[in-house]
Amino acid sequence: MPDGDRGTYHAPMGTDCLFCRIVAGEIPATIVRETATTLAFRDIDPKAPVHVLVIPKEHYADVATLAEADPGLAGEVLATAAVVAEEEGLTGDGFRLMFNTGPHAGQEVFHAHAHLLGGAPLGPMLCR
Ligand code: AMP
Ligand code: ZN
Repeated sequence: MPDGDRGTYHAPMGTDCLFCRIVAGEIPATIVRETATTLAFRDIDPKAPVHVLVIPKEHYADVATLAEADPGLAGEVLATAAVVAEEEGLTGDGFRLMFNTGPHAGQEVFHAHAHLLGGAPLGPMLCR
């Protein structure tokens, strides 16, 4: 899908949320899948051969807020991630799905997003 051709969604006036602006087509992204309620696009600074971010189009600050407000939408984010994992050829060897939430997790963008990582052995879950 061409950048800037993202239908009728518009980021709320004055929003400074990066991912809302990607949903609105105001900032370009390499989109790999879109549903009515979710968007999947490649991370700009990939940490694995496959690194895709999966977000709800609606703004929630993090996955906990999303899950509490709209568990169905949280499930749709997971379902989109599973389809992208299949499309990216990750199902056989596996993948990691990660939601950084809050300062201890180093969350930088406060619009809920799943990191879908794979394409090579990912190493231990945490560096110690
Ligand atoms: P987090 O630290 O969990 O909040 O992750 C934010 C992620 O967003 C990081 O992996 C960044 O590389 C990624 N990111 C930042 N800006 C962009 C962008 N314009 N397009 C795609 N990914 C981005
Ligand atoms: Zn947002």
